[in-house]
Amino acid sequence: MNTGCILIIEDEPALVRGLRDSFTSKGFEVLAAQDGATGIDLALTKNPDLILLDIMLPRVNGYEICRTIRERGIETPIVMLTAKGQEEDIILGLNLGADDYIAKPFRIGELIARVNAFLRRARAKQAEVFRFGDFELNLTAHKLFRHSREIEMTPKEFRLLAYFVSRRGCALARNDILNAVWGHSIMVTSRSIDRCVATLRAKIETDPREPIYIQTIRDIGYRFEAGGDC
Ligand code: CA
Repeated sequence: MNTGCILIIEDEPALVRGLRDSFTSKGFEVLAAQDGATGIDLALTKNPDLILLDIMLPRVNGYEICRTIRERGIETPIVMLTAKGQEEDIILGLNLGADDYIAKPFRIGELIARVNAFLRRARAKQAEVFRFGDFELNLTAHKLFRHSREIEMTPKEFRLLAYFVSRRGCALARNDILNAVWGHSIMVTSRSIDRCVATLRAKIETDPREPIYIQTIRDIGYRFEAGGDC
């Protein structure tokens, strides 16, 4: 069974070996590059389904790889492999077009689950109606329903939720949310996002203090988790 093709760009041979064995045993095809130039070449020519990207690489680092891949118009999901406690590095990577990150050392089971979720979403068609929990978000009608009852939302709340849904499972830096939802208005700050998230949580979370959908990523931003298969 071939469940997808993963490109690993990582210079540590033992880690590459471990990842290759784990993903191969789960039915993935695995490509690996130990330096940036080879990584970019494989990303552009082999059309992988997902890229695992180390940041600290010889010669061309992970950020440059990320930027180059996105500049070429390739939208393959990119999950960065980062060291712990490097929030600024993570934000930079997300701003350059990475979709998510996982901090080393990580559990391989968690990484595989994350990868599988990305691949499922990529394969799902762009639905007009998106369901999560008891909710149904209708992207055409610009309406949110819970058990068929409409929930009143402001246009900003709707745009924020629609953006979260379109990027579900991704780590989203505040800056990226701001640009996507508020545009380039100079009157808004990241506090505007936090306020809008708070009112949105009040409408969709059972307990806004323990959110299950809109999760806070400390020092970075937010991640929307729809739960289950989506
Ligand atoms: Ca490295």
